[in-house]
Amino acid sequence: MHTYTPEIDDLAQRIFDFARKRTELDTIPLGAARTEADLAAACGPTVTTDGLGGAEALRVFTEVLHDASLSVDYTRYLSFVPAAPTEASVLFDLVVGACSIYGGSWIEGAGAVHAENEALRWLADLAGLPADAGGVFVPGGTIGNLSAMVAARGQALERVAGARPDRWVFLASSQAHSSVKSGADVMDADVVPVAVEGDLTMSGAAVGKALDHYGDRVAGVVATAGTTNLGLIDDLRGIGEACHERNVWFHVDGAYGGAALAAPSTHGLFDGVELADSFVVDPHKWLFAPFDCCALLYREPARAQAVHAQHAGYLRFLDEWGDWNPSDFAIHLTRRARGLPFWFSLATHGTDAYADAIQVTLDLAQAASRRIDAVDHLELAHTPSLSVVVFRRLGWDADQYTEWTVRTMKDGTAFVVPSRYQGEPVFRFCFVNPRTTVADIDIIIDALA
Ligand SMILES: *Cc1c(COP(=O)(O)O)cnc(C)c1O
Repeated sequence: MHTYTPEIDDLAQRIFDFARKRTELDTIPLGAARTEADLAAACGPTVTTDGLGGAEALRVFTEVLHDASLSVDYTRYLSFVPAAPTEASVLFDLVVGACSIYGGSWIEGAGAVHAENEALRWLADLAGLPADAGGVFVPGGTIGNLSAMVAARGQALERVAGARPDRWVFLASSQAHSSVKSGADVMDADVVPVAVEGDLTMSGAAVGKALDHYGDRVAGVVATAGTTNLGLIDDLRGIGEACHERNVWFHVDGAYGGAALAAPSTHGLFDGVELADSFVVDPHKWLFAPFDCCALLYREPARAQAVHAQHAGYLRFLDEWGDWNPSDFAIHLTRRARGLPFWFSLATHGTDAYADAIQVTLDLAQAASRRIDAVDHLELAHTPSLSVVVFRRLGWDADQYTEWTVRTMKDGTAFVVPSRYQGEPVFRFCFVNPRTTVADIDIIIDALA
């Protein structure tokens, strides 16, 4: 099985053909989940002692499994945070897979790591981070946030001169992503919600007050730059200043919204992000890269290295040689050079194309909110921010929201799941796909009548 035979050559052709067609498709079908029993019956046994052969295994994937998995890049997939990887990034993902690059250390992956660092530098510049900022691509915002929170605790331990509190506290708003709580749980720490303003954002004054109240128990503050549910951006400047006055780590979670730094029309909303000690943004969300890709940046990478670098006899060689070992900056060792598809697309298209594509999706959100305003059966629930639009279907209860979602998912009309806003069911659009059109929005709004 490690020989390039004529059968493998034939398989290569089939795989490239399928990948090309999947990339070419103008209208990608949504797909639909099937039950476990249904899939088992449709596929038959797939892991067998003798193997199915590549052609048959590929047939099972293309004819059964692919369509039983939703295509997140479907133009009317507007739930959660969708994805819309560029053709260039998807194709280059095949190349990354073909190359067996170890992306954890400089000596093993120097070329790949250099390219990843170029892409990270673009993001650091957008955020206004200093020249010696740096970081690593991790699988997602969840690991990015946790890695940053662990680095934050490292600084807090220095601040309290090793006098560890019973439990560390992270400050965040009630709108912060669930991964912040999950990260704190992993660390056996608490997340204390900071009071939010009327518009549901967290202010510098509120954070300053909470910091004074919790004192030495604070491990760090997590502000959100683009909340997942509503697209809101906390008062980054006020919060950053409150943190720095007290020598507390300031983390900015821009997993979804950070991409809007690249659009001139929204760049100013992130005022103060340059104060961040750490910052995450997921290129697999709104920066058009395939899964799984989160950029994690640190103002002072050495602080992250101090808490994250693994030490072992067999790794010492890497430490002695390494100019920049990506493994040292998060919770991982072996890593795919997962930033490369993003880098390749950036290198191919240039950063202006990114600004333009993000603007297209911001405009879609504005168009959607105007249309929602204009019809009688729908009502905006919150002023749209960034590319998220939340709205009510007047007269429907929670069950009717769910029934509509399931029906339109099954018939392929759309994938729009209900969310909640102030205890009430709402529908939520999240636009990250520049291939979505106003006609797509009209199809959904009509289907909601
Ligand atoms: C999506 C998201 C996360 C989690 O990122 P994953 O890549 O799904 O792990 C964290 N924070 C925010 C604000 C998000 O939108």
